[in-house]
Amino acid sequence: RPARQRKPDWIRVKAPVSEGFNETRKLMRDLSLNTVCEEAACPNIGECWTKKHATVMILGDVCTRACAFCNVKTGMPRMVDPLEPEHTAAAAAKLGLKHIVVTSVDRDDLPDGGAGQFVRVIEAIRRETPDTTIEILTPDFRGKMRAAVEAICEAGPDVYNHNLETVPRLYPTIRPGARYYASLRLLEEVKAHDPMIFTKSGVMLGLGEQRLEVHQVMDDMRSADIDFVTMGQYLQPTLRHAAVEEFVTPKAFDAYGSIARAKGFLQVAATPLTRSSYHAGDDFARMKAA
Ligand code: SF4
Ligand code: SF4
Repeated sequence: RPARQRKPDWIRVKAPVSEGFNETRKLMRDLSLNTVCEEAACPNIGECWTKKHATVMILGDVCTRACAFCNVKTGMPRMVDPLEPEHTAAAAAKLGLKHIVVTSVDRDDLPDGGAGQFVRVIEAIRRETPDTTIEILTPDFRGKMRAAVEAICEAGPDVYNHNLETVPRLYPTIRPGARYYASLRLLEEVKAHDPMIFTKSGVMLGLGEQRLEVHQVMDDMRSADIDFVTMGQYLQPTLRHAAVEEFVTPKAFDAYGSIARAKGFLQVAATPLTRSSYHAGDDFARMKAA
């Protein structure tokens, strides 16, 4: 196997040591909540948790898929936790979140793909902290997409996020369980169901994609009426995962960002450390104020 590539300076981040970090971790443990920050080994965890910004990962910490870029465990999923909606709402309240991002593992084993739990989580947060805006980042609900999207849209999240992750050519190796056009259709379906919900999607760069392929993905996103886009550098969580083909420079990220803005996205985040949920609350607040 090739040795892990050395990270360029612009990827290095501060170690997670702060009071806020420890408090965030303790709260998540006390409420038995999983976070994608930990499960995905996100490089921003030090910064985000210090600011008490965490992304809750519902429906357990075991996924029914095994994407080549993802650090989440694969295997027999756990029972759905009936207390998870209340616990997620309690976390939003205790962390004082103005904006919460909730994501999940894929649950191809559940008859509704886990959509019902998203609905219960949204409802619980609305009850507990009605002023918190809610962003959900869902799986593709393969084979049950329409019913899932309908149920979730009825619950009324503020932002519906679903990541395309990479360019269509790389799907067979990077995201083998998913279909590019099915993911695009999901986001189109959200807009068709409720045009008031902002839609959002993102890609990781550095997996071997070509520049023009990224431009094409942006065009496809705009054709599907997607409002917000995120682009960040892919980092290899372990040597078992897909290798980094390239460290895209900050300058190249800026160029992608300018192109995305020119294509008409309402909100664009494109830096090496951008993740789907990175600064999501700040970006959303700025967009609403504009
Ligand atoms: Fe968590 Fe998102 Fe921040 Fe990463 S960027 S630490 S996943 S909130
Ligand atoms: Fe990770 Fe999501 Fe793929 Fe599951 S479906 S392996 S959580 S990226």
